[in-house]
Amino acid sequence: MLDYDLFVIGAGSGGVRAARMAAAAGAKVAVAEERYLGGTCVNVGCVPKKLFVYASHFAEEFEAAAGYGWDVSSSRMDWATLRDNKTAEIERLNGIYKSLLDDAGVDIIEGRATVVDSHTVEVGGKQWRCERLLLAMGGWPDVPSFPGSEFVIDSNHVFFLNELPRNPVVVGGGYIAVEFAGIFNGLGSNTTLVYRGSKILKRFDQDLGGHVADEMRNKGIHLRLESEVASITKLADNDFALQLKSGEIISCDCVMYATGRRPLLLEAGVDKLGLELDNKGKILVNDSFETSVPGVHALGDLIDTPELTPVAIAEAMVFVDRVYRDSDRTLDYNDIPTAVFCQPNIGTVGLTEQDARAQYGKIDIYKSHFRPLKNTLSGNPERTFMKLVVDQASDRVVGVHMVGPEAGEIIQGMGVALKAGATKADFDETIGIHPTSAEEFVTMRQKAVND
Ligand code: NDP
Repeated sequence: MLDYDLFVIGAGSGGVRAARMAAAAGAKVAVAEERYLGGTCVNVGCVPKKLFVYASHFAEEFEAAAGYGWDVSSSRMDWATLRDNKTAEIERLNGIYKSLLDDAGVDIIEGRATVVDSHTVEVGGKQWRCERLLLAMGGWPDVPSFPGSEFVIDSNHVFFLNELPRNPVVVGGGYIAVEFAGIFNGLGSNTTLVYRGSKILKRFDQDLGGHVADEMRNKGIHLRLESEVASITKLADNDFALQLKSGEIISCDCVMYATGRRPLLLEAGVDKLGLELDNKGKILVNDSFETSVPGVHALGDLIDTPELTPVAIAEAMVFVDRVYRDSDRTLDYNDIPTAVFCQPNIGTVGLTEQDARAQYGKIDIYKSHFRPLKNTLSGNPERTFMKLVVDQASDRVVGVHMVGPEAGEIIQGMGVALKAGATKADFDETIGIHPTSAEEFVTMRQKAVND
């Protein structure tokens, strides 16, 4: 006897979408969740982070306002108001997620689900049998162990701090570290970023990390590159001495680690299933997101695809189409646009210069650095950077990269252009919108590098 056609473990972005769509396709579906509806993205990721990013931009906006004739000299940041307003908004979103699942006829089962076998799940001492199991538990911050690591916080804690840190240290050089270094700095904290490599954001086009690092320094963030943490000693409450391997000691009141995330597998007892994993510990799946165990599927941060909400959602839709709607479509992982909400923002789609060179050999590069119009009266020295990567043989634009205000908003449209196979000639024939920063993408004529 089966209780459900589909049992989903994890009500995050991927799990909720799969549950709703499978139910709409006629399946009887349950989703188990032990923490919060909406998963990392809604609760301790993209959404609250973006709200904090908005908050952190105001300091520069107030300064900019003076150049435009405004007197805003009495501005003051109240962390508790930001934190609590953010939490209220997230609770509203949790309610929306619950309604979406209820309206779709999906049963929500609260509690930690553990896998008994490939067709049986246990939550709170009760067992359910299902035809198919979808693993969508997502990931968890992965903090290394070292002397004093018990004092660090991660991206799960940072949204609920009692006070805004005065002098935080953020460790890591990826998405979360640079975003939170910018948030803390923008909110007024004296912020240090410690990164073990020589260039932050190394998975992106190399010009982007360099430009962002310069801007971070200009804004007052202390960058410690090629630096590793040796230990953290607690001196008093909210008073730590962080020692680097070089011997340098940084005093700080908060250390935030953003050193990657690990898939949440053991917590759900998934090891019992004997699923095949890759060398990163992620679950191997086929085009239907089916694991090596028939009837058990996995998607989102549990598999080795980009750890991004829209990717998990797209995977959920393909899973449902293939399993419940008789479709054979597959997910195209090329040209996934992404943004880093550092300051200024990064927006990027397609290949880096390095990857395009490896893939196509001969490529043309177009670059533009400029001070956006808004920054003339404001006096803000922040500069924008834009870059096009073009395959010489086909003239197709294969990479579009930007560091500047609203880069994420601008690059979304560029993602459509790349998917449609736009050439540099198409970009050149497009008429710009003046005066904007985005128009620069259709007015770049001078090749920066030609080989
Ligand atoms: P990332 O993988 O982006 O970056 C991890 C960073 O930590 C890297 O710079 C890495 O260094 C460094 N690191 C790893 N291990 C150690 C260690 N033991 N000691 C010191 N440094 C270490 O992970 P994040 O945690 O920043 O984010 C996780 C994922 O979440 C991202 O990959 C992204 O997909 C997603 N995300 C997306 C966002 C968005 O869309 N805007 C925002 C936030 C997160 P090295 O480079 O040398 O390996």
